This record gives sequence, structure tokens and C-alpha cells, in this order.
Amino acid sequence: MDIRILGAHNSESESTRLTSLLVDNRLVLDAGGLTSSLSLEAQQQLKAVLLTHQHYDHIRDVLALAMNFYLAGATINIYSALPAFEVTAAHLLDGEIYPNFMKFPEEKPTINFTVVEPHRAIRIGDYDVLAVPVNHSVPTVGYQVTSPEGEAVFFTGDTGPGLSDCWQQVSPQLLVIECTASDRFAEFGRKSGHLTPVLLKEELIAFRDIKGYLPQVVTVHMSPGLEEEIRAEIAAVSEELNTPITPGYEGMELQLSQ
Ligand SMILES: [Zn+2]
Ligand SMILES: [Zn+2]
Repeated sequence: MDIRILGAHNSESESTRLTSLLVDNRLVLDAGGLTSSLSLEAQQQLKAVLLTHQHYDHIRDVLALAMNFYLAGATINIYSALPAFEVTAAHLLDGEIYPNFMKFPEEKPTINFTVVEPHRAIRIGDYDVLAVPVNHSVPTVGYQVTSPEGEAVFFTGDTGPGLSDCWQQVSPQLLVIECTASDRFAEFGRKSGHLTPVLLKEELIAFRDIKGYLPQVVTVHMSPGLEEEIRAEIAAVSEELNTPITPGYEGMELQLSQ
């Protein structure tokens, strides 16, 4: 399984993109820095986009992607849990700010939107996909994607502390988890549903206690202005837990094999 980080930040600039992950050039998890990261040809290879929650930095490129698929006469599958679907349908695919690609063009709408139920595994192409609730300021699910060969990645989307229930349900080799701010913002993280390195450490200790191992860990959704601090604090956590934890970056490639 090949995973590429398309966007590793919570803020967009010339050098940073919003959160988005590409799996085997086929599946995309969150549509932040999606279209600006992929050629039109690469976009046409996509089979599905899975959205973790309704926040703008995670759903934004749904419209740009849909326009590209519409112009190519193709359709794209989009998945989310019910709350993110409702907000996306009401505010992004409302037919006012752009065409409602769930109904347009009439003869073959561009977007085929499927609502997923948390805790219920579904099949998307050759992949098993499981949506698992995490703890954010709005209803959010992480996704575990498992390849036919049994390789698995879990992407949290945005989350704060309190992931014990979530850990019970996943067994990834690679964990892509948010770490938005540095530890001086830990209180902000607890309140707003985000992680900092010290909060991440507690969640990883819980993971190890529950699962008896730690996966490879890559962090995303980093605030660019705090990245130096975040990196230093993550390095300390990595050393304390004696496990690799790597801050992600745009274009980072990760490979999982059995
Ligand atoms: Zn969010
Ligand atoms: Zn976000």
C-alpha cells in the first residue's frame, strides 16, 4: 500500500496545503489540498474521496474535483458520515455557489455521495473501509483503510484527546494522526478537539496499553507557525516512547507491506 501526504497543514500558503491523503493513487482521505496536488490525469484515476468531517479545510476541494470530473464526463464517489453529508449538501453542494453536482448533469450526476455508518465496515473497490468516531468539535470519523493484502492505515482526521474507544476498533500498521499545535496550546487542544505532542503522547500510550503495540506514526494538520516547536516536542515524545513519530509533509511517501 502506497500512501502519499498531499496536505499536512491546517493553513494554506505557497508552501503548505490543507489536509489530504492519497492511498494507492485510488482513494483520497479528506479534500483539503487535493486538486492542487494532483494532475488532471491523476485525478481521473481516483475512485473515491472519504471525508472525515464538515470543516472547510477538509471538504473544500470537493467542488474543484467535481468540476474536473464533470468536464471529463466522469463521476466520482464521495463518502462521509451523516453530519458531514448534511452540512456539505446544505452549504457546499447547495446549487448556489456552484452547480449541485449530486444532481447535475441531470442524465449522469458527477457526484455519487454515499453516507457511511460508523462502526460498519464497507467495501470500496478492493479496500475494506471502517469509519470510527473520534473527538472533535463537530461529529468526526477517522477511517481505517485495509488493502486486499491486509495492510492497514488509520487516518484520524481532526481529533482531540480521548481515543481509547477508537483504538479498540482499529489495528493499523500506519497511524496518520493530527497534531495541530505545540504544547503551550494543550489547553486550547483539549477545548477545541485538537492534539498537541503531549496530548498525542497520552493517546499513543493508551493505544499501546490496549493493542500491545504501536504503529508507525505520522502527524498532519500542523499549524505552520508552530511547526518548529511541534517538531521539537514530537521528537521528544518519539524518544520517550521509543517509537518512530514523524511530522508529515506535502509529498511525503509511505509504503506499507506485509
Ligand atoms: Zn476540524
Ligand atoms: Zn481541520
